[in-house]
Amino acid sequence: MYDVYKIREDFPILGREVYKHPLVYLDNAATTQKPRVVVDSIVKEYYSVNANVHRGVHYLSQLATELHETSREIVRKFLNAHSTSEIIFTRGTTESMNLLAYSFGEAFLKDGDEVIISVMEHHSNIVPWQILQQRKKIVLKIIPMNDKGELLLEEYKKLFSERTKLVSVTHVSNVLGTINPIKELIRIAHEYGIPVAVDAAQSVPHIPVDVQDLDCDFLAFSGHKIYGPTGVGVLYGKEVLLEQMPPYQGGGEMIQSVSFEHTTYNTLPFKFEAGTPDYVATTGLAKALDYCTTLGMENIALHEQELTRYAMDKLNQLGDIRIFGEATEKDAVISFQVGNIHHLDLGTLLDRLGIAIRTGHHCAEPLMRFLGIEGTARVSFALYNTKNEIDTLIAGIERVRKMF
Ligand code: PMP
Repeated sequence: MYDVYKIREDFPILGREVYKHPLVYLDNAATTQKPRVVVDSIVKEYYSVNANVHRGVHYLSQLATELHETSREIVRKFLNAHSTSEIIFTRGTTESMNLLAYSFGEAFLKDGDEVIISVMEHHSNIVPWQILQQRKKIVLKIIPMNDKGELLLEEYKKLFSERTKLVSVTHVSNVLGTINPIKELIRIAHEYGIPVAVDAAQSVPHIPVDVQDLDCDFLAFSGHKIYGPTGVGVLYGKEVLLEQMPPYQGGGEMIQSVSFEHTTYNTLPFKFEAGTPDYVATTGLAKALDYCTTLGMENIALHEQELTRYAMDKLNQLGDIRIFGEATEKDAVISFQVGNIHHLDLGTLLDRLGIAIRTGHHCAEPLMRFLGIEGTARVSFALYNTKNEIDTLIAGIERVRKMF
């Protein structure tokens, strides 16, 4: 049984008030709240273990290293990766995508080569490729979508050419909530012999993701969006590709030996992990993943999808509301506009009622342009949200509407 009220007790912040109202936190696509096990692990590690990893002969360093590397194994298992060599710790999805664009770009892309992305990408899967364009004159090709917010597969197939070198696409849109048919997108790309990178920032926290089943070549996600600490994330990559890619940053940890004449690099995954990692955050991330595994990702997905359906129904019943993203396969994100109330006004007034939502372009300006809008209000759900909270949101929107 999925007992959401019992689960909520694991998240102390959910018990607080905002402007004398019980907090209704519906900004989970931006970041999620942390269960006690995650925060406790951070405190415990700083109080009783803290030492730099990998380099020390002393007891605490070895203990910290063991925790850090055990976390890598927990991430591997969570994604069902083949080996821990394929799990690179980063600061988050953004850094993962920058690492990928830099290093894959260096290894595999020449002037005139093409990378396929989609119209619904977050800036972190657009701008790193544009930065690469300043070094190499690569071409970005864009998969379009229909009015419901679903990618057009037939158009996607037409984008491939002999210059295509990579597809880099989001699994779940942080604006539309669309769950893209990622397995199919990957299968098609592989038919052309092209590798695929997946921005899984909005999928790994919400639905089961198995990298071997998807057969993706790269996959990125952020710890803070899956109940883990800020400042830690992951880039998964197939070993055969990562082996051929150069380091992203230089420094300690990523080398085997250094001389002024010649430096050799460390083995995977350390080649991509220059400097002291946030080893406390990796432990916290592992605790968060274990927490989700205990609840069951399938159960979390079912709960959130029920919330999404419930909220979609309730919002639609309000009338005079425009919802962006009505894909058949939709995850726990709903973007909308109410009448002609500016999204910023709506967000600000709901905040006064203790209801936290997101407003703006959601780091997807090209998508906003495609939709012909400036921004939206957005609610996004997590494993601890309830139907009661959605009722509070709806009542809040009605109240704001009366004020206008
Ligand atoms: N991609 C998507 C789809 C996202 O929703 C986000 C965060 N909003 C990111 C990438 C970037 O994640 P982060 O800021 O944690 O690096």
